[in-house]
Amino acid sequence: QSLADDMDTDAATMPLPQSDERRWSDTSAYAPKKTLQSWIQLPNGNWELGKILSTSGEESVLSLAEGKVIKVMTETLVPANPDILDGVDDLMQLSYLNEPSVLYNLNYRYNQDMIYTKAGPVLVAVNPFKEVPLYGNRYIEAYRKRSDESPHVYAIADTAIREMIRDEVNQSIIISGESGAGKTETAKIAMQYLAALGGGSGIEYEILKTNPILEAFGNAKTLRNDNSSRFGKLIEIHFSEIGKISGAQVQTCKCKLTITPLHISRVVQCAEGERSYHIFYQLCAGASPALREKLNLTSAHEYKYLRQSNCYSINGVDDAERFHTVKEALDIVHVSKKDQESVFAMLASVLWLGNVSFYVIDNENHVEPVADESLSTVAKLIGCNINDLKLSLSKRNMRVGKDTIVQKLTLPQAIDARDALAKSIYSCLFDWLVEQINKSLAVGKRRTGKCISILDIYGFESFDKNSFEQFCINYANERLQQHFNRHLFKLEQEEYIQDGIDWTRVDFEDNQDCLSLFEKKPLGLLTLLDEESTFPNGTDLTLANKLKQHLLSNSCFRGDRGKLFTVVHYAGEVQCLGLKHKPDVASVLVTAFKSSKPVVGQLFQLMQRLGNTTPHFIRCIKPNNVQSPGLYEQGLVLQQLRCCGVLEVVRISRSGFPTRMSHQKFARRYGFLLVDNVADKDPLSVSVAILHQFNILPEMYQVGYTKLFFRTGQIGVLEDTRNRTL
Ligand code: ADP
Ligand code: MG
Repeated sequence: QSLADDMDTDAATMPLPQSDERRWSDTSAYAPKKTLQSWIQLPNGNWELGKILSTSGEESVLSLAEGKVIKVMTETLVPANPDILDGVDDLMQLSYLNEPSVLYNLNYRYNQDMIYTKAGPVLVAVNPFKEVPLYGNRYIEAYRKRSDESPHVYAIADTAIREMIRDEVNQSIIISGESGAGKTETAKIAMQYLAALGGGSGIEYEILKTNPILEAFGNAKTLRNDNSSRFGKLIEIHFSEIGKISGAQVQTCKCKLTITPLHISRVVQCAEGERSYHIFYQLCAGASPALREKLNLTSAHEYKYLRQSNCYSINGVDDAERFHTVKEALDIVHVSKKDQESVFAMLASVLWLGNVSFYVIDNENHVEPVADESLSTVAKLIGCNINDLKLSLSKRNMRVGKDTIVQKLTLPQAIDARDALAKSIYSCLFDWLVEQINKSLAVGKRRTGKCISILDIYGFESFDKNSFEQFCINYANERLQQHFNRHLFKLEQEEYIQDGIDWTRVDFEDNQDCLSLFEKKPLGLLTLLDEESTFPNGTDLTLANKLKQHLLSNSCFRGDRGKLFTVVHYAGEVQCLGLKHKPDVASVLVTAFKSSKPVVGQLFQLMQRLGNTTPHFIRCIKPNNVQSPGLYEQGLVLQQLRCCGVLEVVRISRSGFPTRMSHQKFARRYGFLLVDNVADKDPLSVSVAILHQFNILPEMYQVGYTKLFFRTGQIGVLEDTRNRTL
């Protein structure tokens, strides 16, 4: 199917939305006809298709599948699309845009392993939880040549490349979704495509090899996802300017990773049924006898940090085999054998630290570490004197005025100090690895053109107990949502209005209130939190009270009982507690809690960098909570679709003009296609001449003061002609 066909669909068969039809939740305008199919919501919340047999007064009689006949209030019916629209690959093509129709369409495709669907400019990806035959070189080729145009991550990556070349603007691919929805896999698939176009500099292979390393050190099994990334990742792939004209060739020449801090507490603490970071289990399972001896390594079952959650293995995963993959990947990104050994020694030291125990030395309950195999092994592995280690695990220095006094530690304090050291080692190790990878990927000082960034960041999280980790994640998501809103709705509408084109405003959900709740100065969540964590006697309760004192006027904040409070995010309510950081008892050691600032700060950095790019959005959807193929739970999917505003996007895109180009650019790009000589004409006249020559229908475009605006698919026709002519 060509782009031209696409346009025909748009123009001829797809009825342009009427203003009342845009409100997909409003069905009052819907007058059921006898032959029409309708959606009926069953008591369990699921929607089922029914055929209207008769309508009298306010009631209708419908037949459901399996011959069941029911009577319902007519106003509760939601129109279903004709069969011919079953499984359309862009939700924009649906005649009736409503929740059950969208759910049905995604389900219909999902059942046939068509996991990707467009929602206007956004790609929706429903996690198949099994291998689907959609990837690899054959597919990459097809998308590159555009002989396959069905929705795909490859298509998004390809569009990003083309727009990077065409507009000379950096691009970003922003992947969002809940934990386990498929973000990381999707990011890998996008990287695979971009890397395949790398053009033989060799770096594309390295880029892909960063994945097993980052996953080993930064992913863990959680209750939601066997391979859950506990960090946010932005990978920038830089391209040289080769082949700019033809648009066919680019060369990858550099790559840069930015990682938001790891959820480091998992190293020392993890819930029943979950695991710590993969690498620990991989090391225990896969280390050679020689390495085992060097590190005094035993089995995972012997280590307290790994034992506490009572979960050692993952279905279908061979940790020993993975360990070899990681070692190979480390070779490829140029981490020397010697450095690799140090990495493993650090890992072993963390494991042994967890086994360090304490005994009481006086009647004030002060403790000292037991001088056993664990303690001596840690000292040996991190290369420090055993007495220094003992000291740092039993005493701390306190600054009092100008003086420093030494304070002995009680058992809980000593355990905190020990865990802080373990976390600090791990987090330094992770940072170091990222640095090594970046060094390895920044080959040469070749002049670079533009870049494409891929953002894979943890999605919105809400648990029974939410702490600082969720607080940060959800804040980041709120920022991302704003980016999304801005790009797709706000800018869109503002641009139409600014450019003086005919346009009726469409409302959309704005999340500015929630962002203000976090960011307002001096009385926003972030500032207040920062302030409170500098008070030595602050607790969760004093923090909560302070927040309640200042923030209750914001509709996105709710004070609950005691130390609890609730933040109303765009994606749902989250009740928080325990945001206050414990004062760092291990300040003698490198601090593992790098305070709230870097986390939030780094997220800002990420967002800023994305701000100057043309974004492409992929929304990953998790169809069930049990990581099982073929299971599609309507309620769960719907809740995610609502969270990320997929329907609004479609609604706006259908009625809007998503493609735009300045008169100058348009004239320059397509002017040579004109039959008449227009050399002396102004850009606007040239543009209009082009539109006429190609018979672009008047309802398919708008001429603004500075730009031309097109409905979806229109520019593709011109691009095709241009490419054929070049
Ligand atoms: P997230 O990063 O959103 O938490 P992941 O990308 O780790 O989620 O995906 C969770 C799991 O879902 C993966 O380990 C994999 O088993 C499965 N999965 C996700 N996307 C795909 C895909 N495109 N094809 C096959 N399996 C997938
Ligand atoms: Mg992930």
